[in-house]
Amino acid sequence: MRVYGVQKKVLVTGGCGFLGSHLVDKLIERGDYVIAVDNLYTGSRQNTLQHESNPNFEFLRHDIEVDLTLEVDEIYNLACPASPVHYQHDPIKTVKTCILGAINMLNLAKRLEAKIFQASTSEVYGDPAVHPQSESYFGNVNPIGIRSCYDEGKRVSETLFFDYHRKENIDIRVARIFNTYGPRMHPNDGRVVSNFIVQALQGKDLTIYGDGGQTRSFCYVDDLIDGFLKFMDLTPNGDGESVYPGPLNLGNPQEFTILELAHLVISMTGSSSKIISLPLPSDDPMQRRPDITLAQDCLDDWHPGIPLEDGLRKTIEYFDHLLVNI
Ligand code: NAD
Ligand code: UDP
Repeated sequence: MRVYGVQKKVLVTGGCGFLGSHLVDKLIERGDYVIAVDNLYTGSRQNTLQHESNPNFEFLRHDIEVDLTLEVDEIYNLACPASPVHYQHDPIKTVKTCILGAINMLNLAKRLEAKIFQASTSEVYGDPAVHPQSESYFGNVNPIGIRSCYDEGKRVSETLFFDYHRKENIDIRVARIFNTYGPRMHPNDGRVVSNFIVQALQGKDLTIYGDGGQTRSFCYVDDLIDGFLKFMDLTPNGDGESVYPGPLNLGNPQEFTILELAHLVISMTGSSSKIISLPLPSDDPMQRRPDITLAQDCLDDWHPGIPLEDGLRKTIEYFDHLLVNI
């Protein structure tokens, strides 16, 4: 429910993180008033510095494990560390962020009658026995492993979103995000794209975990954020059908082995770095590719338009500039 006037007020939790800050940029660009809530656990105010003097932007340092009272029209819940290194650093906190954070944001949405978006993940599919992964697949997740704090945390968040939707009539949008990369990833983020680019630019060995035969499908950040906005902006089409609440896969279906990615990064950076193999972490999924048929149907033919090489070029430029200025 719109509180004041015509300008939409939007809350973005995790608004100073990699994806959150790109989302904030787009919302500000289209004229919304944005409140970025973040505890700066993995994010940085540097990512939203460009908006600091904008009267349509507000930063609030807050941990979503704690209840929050604000007046907004829409909520995007992105707060949660996303890199395995970071979410495993304090796994109990990761679970709390996923579950208590979801409950707090859903209660806020309930009080405000606000639409709420959840940044879920392809990790809900675990190490998938079905390939590519469509939304109907229930997944193959270890409940007690080192990735479980995140995988199971995000699965329970989805459960909470759908229970609030059924019981409290909350308007929800649950997106399952597949590996996304781009500028503003932290140089020590630990995820594969940023690791390889930083290693290549610094002339260090590229660290492949296992034999590099595992696959991932990499989506450039602009394509993903475009999908977020289209999903959140869906309105009923007038024939009495309600909007699809999700889950909805968002990602780029082009699949690469990690070894292919390493070679591509070395050739695109012109680096003399070598590739070395380190042990594969436990429960590391062997394959990952989204089936995006549903997203294409629901989101007016949305599809990722930026090929890996183009996205990598922009990301390499970003890190090149960042590392020179550190
Ligand atoms: P990120 O680590 O860059 O951003 C997460 C942000 O949330 C950071 O700014 C961090 O400080 C903040 N945060 C963490 N815990 C918090 C808490 N308890 N209270 C308030 N703020 C908190 O990660 P990202 O890649 O931008 O991911 C954003 C969201 O998207 C996450 O929920 C993640 O699970 C989801 N996701 C991302 C990807 C991807 O490939 N980037 C894939 C699947 C899902
Ligand atoms: N990976 C790797 N070297 C690195 C970082 C990651 O080989 O320096 C591998 C990792 O084991 C996984 C894949 O790359 O198989 C993607 O890892 P990332 O942490 O980016 O994302 P996720 O495992 O959550 O998909």
